[in-house]
Amino acid sequence: MDKNCENTVRIRVKGLVQGVGFRPFIYRLAHEHKLKGWVENRNDGVVIEVTGVGAVLEDFKTAIIKESPQASNVVSITQESLDFRVFGKFEIVKSENTSDAITDISPDIALCGDCVADLKTQAHRIDFPFINCTNCGPRFSIIKDLPYDREKTTMAPFIMCDVCQKEYADVLDRRFHAQPVACNACGPKYTLYVDGKSIDGIHLIVKEVADLLKNGKIVAIKGIGGFQMACDAQNEKAVDRLRKLKNREGKPFAVMFANREKLDEFVCLDEVEDKSVRSWRKPIVLLKEKKKLAPGVSAGFDRVGAMLPYMPFHYLLFEELDLPAIVLTSGNISDEPIVIDNEIALDKLSGISDAVLTYNREIYNRTDDSVVFIVNRRERLIRRSRGYVPQPINLKLNVDGIFAAGAELVNCFCIGKGNQAIMSQHIGDLKNLEALEFYTESFERHKKLFRMKPELVVHDMHPDYLSTKFAKELGITVVEVQHHHSHIASCMAEYNLDEKVIGISFDGTGLGDDGNIWGGEFFICDLAGYKRYTHFDYIPLPGGDRVTKEPWRTAISFLYKIYGEDFLELDLPFLRELDKPGLNLIVQAIEKNINCPLSSSAGRLFDAVAALTNICPVSKFHAEAPMCLEAEMNFAEAGAYPFDFGETISFEDTIREIVEDIKEGVLAADISTKFHNTIINVVFGVASMIRKETGLDKVVLSGGTFQNRYILQNVETLLTLEGFKVYSQANIPSNDGGVALGQIAIAAKRRELGH
Ligand code: ZN
Ligand code: ZN
Ligand code: FE
Repeated sequence: MDKNCENTVRIRVKGLVQGVGFRPFIYRLAHEHKLKGWVENRNDGVVIEVTGVGAVLEDFKTAIIKESPQASNVVSITQESLDFRVFGKFEIVKSENTSDAITDISPDIALCGDCVADLKTQAHRIDFPFINCTNCGPRFSIIKDLPYDREKTTMAPFIMCDVCQKEYADVLDRRFHAQPVACNACGPKYTLYVDGKSIDGIHLIVKEVADLLKNGKIVAIKGIGGFQMACDAQNEKAVDRLRKLKNREGKPFAVMFANREKLDEFVCLDEVEDKSVRSWRKPIVLLKEKKKLAPGVSAGFDRVGAMLPYMPFHYLLFEELDLPAIVLTSGNISDEPIVIDNEIALDKLSGISDAVLTYNREIYNRTDDSVVFIVNRRERLIRRSRGYVPQPINLKLNVDGIFAAGAELVNCFCIGKGNQAIMSQHIGDLKNLEALEFYTESFERHKKLFRMKPELVVHDMHPDYLSTKFAKELGITVVEVQHHHSHIASCMAEYNLDEKVIGISFDGTGLGDDGNIWGGEFFICDLAGYKRYTHFDYIPLPGGDRVTKEPWRTAISFLYKIYGEDFLELDLPFLRELDKPGLNLIVQAIEKNINCPLSSSAGRLFDAVAALTNICPVSKFHAEAPMCLEAEMNFAEAGAYPFDFGETISFEDTIREIVEDIKEGVLAADISTKFHNTIINVVFGVASMIRKETGLDKVVLSGGTFQNRYILQNVETLLTLEGFKVYSQANIPSNDGGVALGQIAIAAKRRELGH
C-alpha cells in the first residue's frame, strides 16, 4: 500500500468492541482523520471500510488501539485492501447478523461520571434511575442474543420517545446507539411495595426507601443482576435482624459506601485496592476495616467486603439517605440463587424484608456482585460475575465445541468457542434444585448467545456432583478429569502455559484417582496429565462430610493418630467442651473404619488447627475455620513448626508441638502464625526438591487455600526470591469457581493429542 496515495481498506476489529461505545468512537476518530466510509457491528466484531491516504490510515489504526473506550478490549486488528472506492461521508450502518462467529459481549458497566452529572442537569433525565450512555449501563444482564441491538435486549418493550430517539441517532451524542437509552418519559420505572400498598414515582420512592433504611428497616432492592437486601450498616439491630431473616450465621455481609470519602473513613486501601474498588466493574473488594460498622456486618473478621454505588438508584438513594454505608447482600433464600423475577421477589423476599423495590425491566442473565481481593498488588477474583462476565479468556488452545461442567461448590461452567473460553457467571453451590435450574438455564442461554454446539463435555471425576450427572446426560462424548489437575490447569490456562510445571494444589476437597479425598497435592504436570509427586499424609475423616461443619472431628483424628487413646487425657480447652461418650464413638469409628474416608486435604489440616486452638471447633459456613485461623494471626511470631517429609508430608510433629504450645498457654494468634509459616515452608521445601530432581522451575499455584492472603502472598514472594517462576490465579478464582477453565483446557489438550 502506498503511504502517499489514497487507498480503500477493510479493517476488522475483534475483541470486546460491542456495547462499549465502540462505533461512535470509530465515527469520531474517522472524522478527526477526515476519513470517509462506514463502520458496522457484525457478530464477530466491528468492520470498518474507509478510503484515505496510507499514512493517515496507519495513524487511524494506531488510534483505534490507543484511544479505545475504557470497557473495550481490542484483541486483534486486521486489514485487507479493497478496490478503490469513493465514499460520500463516514457513517454507521445497521448491524447484520452474518455468521455463527461471535464477538465479545460486554459485561455490565457501572454508571459513568458523565451520567452522574446528567442526572442533575439533563431536563428529561433529572433523577432518571435508569440513565446510561454508550460508556455505561447494563449489558450482559439484559442481552438475549447477538448482535447487540436494542430489540435483542430486555429494553425491547420500551419504545424510545422522540428526544431519546434523536440522541440515539445523533453520532455526536454520547447516547448514540446506546441500546438501553431511555428517559423519564419513555424508560422503565420503579415500584415500591410496602405495607400492602405500592408507591410509584422515583422521588417518593427514594424518600420512602431512605426513611425505611434510616429507621432500621430492611428493603429488598432490585439491582442490575438480581435482587439485593439492604439495611443500615451501622445499625446493629437491623444487621442482626437481617442475619436472622436470611438465616445466615457468621458469613460477612457486603457493604456499599456512599462515596469514596466515606469508604476512606471506614476502611484502609492502598493504590491498587483503590483502583479496583473504583473501576468500571465496581466489584466488592475485601478491605481492612479502619472504623467499626455494626459488629454483625463482618462477623468478627477484620475485612469488609466494600463497594461503591454503580446504579443510578444507588446515587439517588445515598443523596437522600445521609448514611455512610448500607449492607447490600444477595436477595435469596438460604443457598438458592439470587431472585431476579418481580413476582418471585414479592412472594419470597417480602417475608424477609419490610419493603420490596422492583422495576419493570426484566433481568435476563442473573449476576451476583463480583468479589475480589488484592495480594501482591494484583486483583484476585473470588467470585466472578457482574462486571466481569462474559468476558472470554483468550487461549492458544482450540477449545471450540467443548463444554466444561465445573465442580459442585461455587460452580461456574465454561464453554469453548474457537480459542476463547467463556466462563459462566457464578452459579453457586449445585446442591439444590433452584441452583441446578439456574445452571441448566444459563447453559442453554450461553449456547444460544454464543452460538455454540457442544460436541465434547468434560466433568469432574466425582460421580455425585450434579454437574457430573448433568454432563453425562448430555449424550455426547465425555472426558473425565481429576479435580486438582483441573485447578492447576485453570491457572495454566490463565497464563497460556502449555508445558511441564510444578503444580501445587491445596483446597478443601476433591476426589482423587485412588478413591480418597485429595487436597494437599504436589504434581508434576502439564495440561494433558499429571504425576502425583507427593501429598499431605492421609488422615481419616470421622463422619465423612460432617467434618466440614465440625472441624473438631478432624482435630480428634489427628490427636488419635499421634497419641492413641491417650489423647483423652490431654487437657486441651476444646476437648473439655466435647462429651466423653461422643469422643469414644468417634474413636471407635476411626478404629473400625466406619464412615471414615481418607483425606490429604489442606483445608482439613487448617480445620484441625482451628479446632485444636479452639478458634473454630464448629463451622457455621463453608471454609469458616481456615478463615478464622487466618484472621487470628498476629504476625508477631516469625517461627514455624517442624514437619516430616518422607514418601508423603506428615504433620504429626506439627500437631504435637501445637499441643505443647496450647498446654503452655501460648497465644492462639502465635500458634496460628507459626502454623501458617509451616505451610509456607512445606511449599518451599517440596518445590525446591522437585526443582532439584527435575530441573523444572515454573510453579503453578491453585485451589481454595490460595485465597488465604498470608499464604498466597508469602509463598509467591518467597518462591520468586528463590528463583522460581510463580503463577497464581488472578482473573479466574482459585477456588472451585475456576475449575471449569482447567477442565476445558485439559479436554482441549487431550483432543489435540488424540487421547
Ligand atoms: Zn454514562
Ligand atoms: Zn425518552
Ligand atoms: Fe477444589
